[in-house]
Amino acid sequence: MTKRSRPRIGILGAGQLALMLAQAAEALDVEIVCAGQPGDCAEQAAEVMSVDLDNADAVAGFAAQVDLVTIESENIHADVLQGLNLYPNVRAIGIAQDRLLEKRFFQECGMGTAPFAPVDSLEDFKRAIEVTGLPAILKTRRMGYDGKGQVRLRSLADSAAAWDEVGGMPCILEGMVKFDAEVSLIAARGRTGKVVFYPLIENHHSEGILRTSSAPFVDAQLQQLAEKYLVVLLEKLEYVGVLAVEFFVVGDKLLANEMAPRVHNSGHWTIEGSETSQFENHLRAIAGMELGSTRSRPMVMLNCIGSMPPEHETSAFPQIFRHDYGKEARPGRKVGHLTLPATENAVIVEWQSRLQG
Ligand code: AMP
Repeated sequence: MTKRSRPRIGILGAGQLALMLAQAAEALDVEIVCAGQPGDCAEQAAEVMSVDLDNADAVAGFAAQVDLVTIESENIHADVLQGLNLYPNVRAIGIAQDRLLEKRFFQECGMGTAPFAPVDSLEDFKRAIEVTGLPAILKTRRMGYDGKGQVRLRSLADSAAAWDEVGGMPCILEGMVKFDAEVSLIAARGRTGKVVFYPLIENHHSEGILRTSSAPFVDAQLQQLAEKYLVVLLEKLEYVGVLAVEFFVVGDKLLANEMAPRVHNSGHWTIEGSETSQFENHLRAIAGMELGSTRSRPMVMLNCIGSMPPEHETSAFPQIFRHDYGKEARPGRKVGHLTLPATENAVIVEWQSRLQG
């Protein structure tokens, strides 16, 4: 299609990440169009076209109407993405959507991981457990998120039930890591190869779902180590856009757990906490603009899982930045988040407990 001066960016998906990308686009000279379904939450800030994301022709038809395409979820089959003007590239997305390829790639980049082994049948468990030890965690290679497609194993005798629970899908078995903390590092790499980093973020999960992110996780050595790892990874993938890698901290080591080839839930605090948010820097990177400063102040983000607290309750606390994605309440669903300056400790503790209740 003919090039416009104002790039038209197509996002595959129209959920909350697309919504926050579209909101960030308002400060930039770009236009956002999302591919999703009527009623998806990005409709609040951008045009949403009805597109079946499992259908390669439908996706190609959408891509033909924009200058470049990006994703808000890595769970779109790589076959559908072939041949698109896509940022990040299809190789990066393909690796991130398969836990086995992802773990092997981390090792290729010189990173440590939990011990792991592929499991493709019930017969594979015994050999896999010899590699991972027990307890272990069985994860489907594909389509797992927010703790879905994961089962814990205490003994070999749990294998049949675990295999049944994941529906006999190709899996990896991982040894359980006794970590000191979970952290993530978010980077943006521009088209020229320039890379910027946000400070390390500490993450707390419960039932496999992220509940709290706090930044910065202050450890200069780990920050340096994580940045060194991401530089290798980003270069190897010729990556353009925002990428997040989640690590387990074990003593002075980092074990890579997974990567997200997109803006990440643990970086939502950057909207208010950083000079340039992860959303704006993703758009800047993929549109070929200069990356913005990642200078940040300490912030905490609390996810709202299942339902949003009533607005009059959050508005009673002027320190709270409230983000309601406008999604229907449903158990286990991310429907919004609250961001607060990290100095507001009493309010943070109060809201952590209110959101758990
Ligand atoms: P994941 O979907 O791989 O990010 O897993 C969700 C959460 O489960 C992680 O953030 C950890 O809290 C926990 N988890 C996953 N894998 C392991 C592991 N190998 N050892 C310990 N905890 C794990």
